[in-house]
Amino acid sequence: MDTLYDLIIVGLGSHGSNCFSHFSGKMRVLGIEQYVSPHTKGSHNGETRIVREMGYSGEYIDIARRSLELWSQLQDSTSEQVYVKSGGILFGHQTDNQFRDFTQSHNPNLQQLKHQEVESRFPIKTSQDQQFFFDKSAGFVKPELAIQIFINQGKAKGGELINNCRYINHIYKDDEIHVYTDLGVFRSKKLILSLGMGLKRLQNTYSSLDIGIYKQQVVFFKTDNKRFDDLPVFLSEDDSQELYGFPRVNGEVKIGLHHFGPSLEHPDLYDQTKNEEGSANIIRGFLMKYMPELKDATVSRVQTCVYTSTRDHNFTIDFDPRCKNTIILSACSGHGFKFCIVMGEIIEEMFNTGVQKYKTFQLSRFQKPKF
Ligand SMILES: Cc1cc2nc3c(=O)[nH]c(=O)nc-3n(C[C@H](O)[C@H](O)[C@H](O)COP(=O)(O)OP(=O)(O)OC[C@H]3O[C@@H](n4cnc5c(N)ncnc54)[C@H](O)[C@@H]3O)c2cc1C
Repeated sequence: MDTLYDLIIVGLGSHGSNCFSHFSGKMRVLGIEQYVSPHTKGSHNGETRIVREMGYSGEYIDIARRSLELWSQLQDSTSEQVYVKSGGILFGHQTDNQFRDFTQSHNPNLQQLKHQEVESRFPIKTSQDQQFFFDKSAGFVKPELAIQIFINQGKAKGGELINNCRYINHIYKDDEIHVYTDLGVFRSKKLILSLGMGLKRLQNTYSSLDIGIYKQQVVFFKTDNKRFDDLPVFLSEDDSQELYGFPRVNGEVKIGLHHFGPSLEHPDLYDQTKNEEGSANIIRGFLMKYMPELKDATVSRVQTCVYTSTRDHNFTIDFDPRCKNTIILSACSGHGFKFCIVMGEIIEEMFNTGVQKYKTFQLSRFQKPKF
């Protein structure tokens, strides 16, 4: 209780670990994590995450571009492979809503490909009613490695970290914030709450923090087929079913279904041992149609992870309505990892200006209109 920190960051997962790296060295920082990150009990496990600008528009586009710049810089600064610029392909039908929204964002960096070119370059079977767009700036990052790098960077710059320590709540006392945990009380001038699905526990304190938790599974297919080494990361919509996947990494092609279910009422109900029926069958159906070279591949692993999601699928990054020294950070909804590398910059600007300039991320967007 003696030390007064400049900043406490609670939750050292995807976004908290980047903030830990970003602010350490600039001020006295304490990170508090209930487990030891990276781990498999949150939203960041699974070995790969897509990074892209394809599909983004509005307030997302600048931060998507900035995140790609920062991933490149991180890759240049390390001998380990954390970012792979594989390119990305988006395919679907103009009758599918999400695909139409994605491709009508008029991003000049998206290049439409002819069916013949798709089939000659990639192990993808096309059908004439589909459209294909290529984003050469897209690729994937390795989430566990990225988080480990951020934590190491933060520690090297003097950041302090307490693992296996669970945040309970915080109170405001004069100009200080008192953070209560199961290992005692810590004092700070500023606070970032980047709890992932743990934010659901704060629903009573922040009534407009409307967060759902959704269990997700990704399926790994074992294959010796080297054509899948050159597969770009892909997003596909077929009959309103959205799927995404990665090139072959360590002999496996990982594919996931982007959907929002089954949902959990509380983070404590998350049970990774229970498999969600159905995902693998839907993915197999997709492979038979669009990647027939993989249709008989063996499922080598299934991994479970969670999406936290707001009602409109946009992030919530905003001040505690009671105090501008606390920021709630939830960059979620199944597409947040790519942005973790830019979170430190966004939050530093918020602390400096006292303003959340991105309207898309403001908590108040969920407030009911007053009559
Ligand atoms: C299957 C799947 C695929 C995805 N694919 C992509 C993709 O391709 N591209 C992309 O950009 N995004 C993707 N995402 C989304 C992305 O992974 C998430 O948006 C991101 O990981 C969320 O980060 P977070 O920091 O909010 O949560 P986390 O990384 O889970 O971090 C939260 C941390 O807070 C800690 N914590 C919680 N409660 C407490 C407490 N009380 N006390 C102390 N610590 C606490 C947790 O232990 C955890 O370490 C995917 C997500 C899933 C599940």
